Amino acid sequence: APSRPVVTRFAPSPTGYLHIGGARTALFNYLFAKHHGGKFLMRIEDTDTERHNEAAVDAILQGMAWMGTPHDGAIVRQRENIGRHKEVAAQLLANGGAYKCYCSKEELDAMREEAEKKGVAFRYPGTWRNVPPDAPPPAGRQPVVRIKTPEEGCTTWKDGVMGQIEIPNKDVDDFIILRADGTPTYLLAVVVDDHDMGVTQVIRGSDHIGNTARQIAVFKNMGWMLPDFAHLPLIHGHDGKKLSKRHGATGLEEFEAKGYLPEAIRNYLARLSWSHGDDEIFSTEQAVEWFTLSACSKGAPCFDFEKLNVL
Ligand code: GLU
Repeated sequence: APSRPVVTRFAPSPTGYLHIGGARTALFNYLFAKHHGGKFLMRIEDTDTERHNEAAVDAILQGMAWMGTPHDGAIVRQRENIGRHKEVAAQLLANGGAYKCYCSKEELDAMREEAEKKGVAFRYPGTWRNVPPDAPPPAGRQPVVRIKTPEEGCTTWKDGVMGQIEIPNKDVDDFIILRADGTPTYLLAVVVDDHDMGVTQVIRGSDHIGNTARQIAVFKNMGWMLPDFAHLPLIHGHDGKKLSKRHGATGLEEFEAKGYLPEAIRNYLARLSWSHGDDEIFSTEQAVEWFTLSACSKGAPCFDFEKLNVL
């Protein structure tokens, strides 16, 4: 059993309706929190002002209300925490966990081209990492702030679903936490908010595994306790390809419009990557009682709309 009171969160970026993948993430965070008598929090990741739209926030909240996975406490709006994200970036600069990088766009483009020629992925080589902080900066350039990531070894964690994960640190470069215009990046914001919200268990899609290795560097450089991580396999369509619109209905509101019962969809979503013996139909209360991450499957589940149609 977890050693601290359990706090999970669902943290969607409001760029569209609540799709099957997001709904499953929300559901599993809900089930895990409730199984442990903990809290299930909600954070809207709305710092991307260009792509942000308030109608998408409404659609997501409406989808969750329909599905019947109520969150605890007030909704956290990531954009309201930008001041706090900047404060943490300043602390990281002060404690040596981050540094200013004055590389110009031209210099970075040249490095990128070089990497491309060699046929390797571009990694920022740490040009400014060891420049003494009091060295005079190049005139007329605004720096970005980069986090210091470990240079050797592996970043490892015991993933609640995927098991032991090891990411070689040579694949984790010193990524940007503050842009030249002073705005925090997503990778910083997520860690600061998860820490401040007291999140103990992160459950999200396996497309975030690379981000987790990066975010661990931020937690460590701040000396913060790490949450546990669990990554759910991405949902595929009947043809084995990543689920998208062309597979038919993928938005919760489409199921609602077609007259599906929320219990049926909840049951179906739970069973997409979790099982409990031979039980096929169960109530949400039973799912809460039985839920464990270790009973989640690692392999990509197949979402077959045709099959769902005949249920
Ligand atoms: N906002 C991210 C997304 O919608 C999720 C962030 C997270 O769960 O850490 O993909």
